[in-house]
Amino acid sequence: MKPYKIGIDLGGTKTEVVILGQDDTEQYRKRVPTQGQNDYKVLLDFLHTFIRDTMQHIPEGDDFSIGIGIPGAIDPETHLVQNANTTCLIGNPLQKDIESLLDRRVGIDNDANCFTFAESLKGNGKDYNLVFGIIMGTGCGGGICIDKHIRKGPNSIAGEWGHFSVDPNGSLCYCGNRGCVETKISGSGVEMAFYNTFKKKLSMQEIVKGYRANDPACTSAFNQFLDDFGRCLGGLLSVLDPDAVVLGGGLSNIDELYTIGTERARGYAFHRHTITPILKNRLGDSAGVLGAAWIGV
Ligand SMILES: [Zn+2]
Repeated sequence: MKPYKIGIDLGGTKTEVVILGQDDTEQYRKRVPTQGQNDYKVLLDFLHTFIRDTMQHIPEGDDFSIGIGIPGAIDPETHLVQNANTTCLIGNPLQKDIESLLDRRVGIDNDANCFTFAESLKGNGKDYNLVFGIIMGTGCGGGICIDKHIRKGPNSIAGEWGHFSVDPNGSLCYCGNRGCVETKISGSGVEMAFYNTFKKKLSMQEIVKGYRANDPACTSAFNQFLDDFGRCLGGLLSVLDPDAVVLGGGLSNIDELYTIGTERARGYAFHRHTITPILKNRLGDSAGVLGAAWIGV
């Protein structure tokens, strides 16, 4: 076991880094805006520089591992990035490129897998065998951990529930399908649906606030959101029957997901009295970056 672990959570808008020392004590942390969201070369250069800067904070001569969580997955056959909502990554050999720039191996996994892994190891999923982790933010990702191991699957798409098409007439998703779960229950999906129906631009936060203040448009949109959440999650419970579900991402702070949303999920699941706990994350925004540190090599 190496004495230090560097974890990087490469996000579409922000990138965070952490250095863990012995017993996973946090030694250093930094969060910066991501550069090059639309240009792979700029993004690669940004990531490389950020990792090099971070390495300066490790005592000279001490060994360390590096793990990176990315908004996508590495195709097990071609080793190119696939399924990334930071679309400039798609089709590029990110792992090979960053390893040759750093002249060392790095661990790379999907950010939702990193989140689920962290919550399974040390978060609210730690007492459960099969944990389904969900990130609901700008997008909607998912991951599966079984007995504290990430389940990747032969196509590296295990847990990618956000791209299950639930509405053939729904909006077009970046993945090419229509009406994906992501278009229904992510922040950007709800905001777009609100704009299409009411011709008014409101943020997800404003929609939630409006719902709590009994605004009719916000109530209608938010009820639709809770129902979509329930229907999509209910189906998932029926397929996987996990021991626990842990929610992360900005939308996981919406209290109604754990009351009305959970009730609706139970209503849609094949077994109407599902006992599966739907839990809020414990590690908060840190889960992604900690998970990345723990997958490092
Ligand atoms: Zn999709």
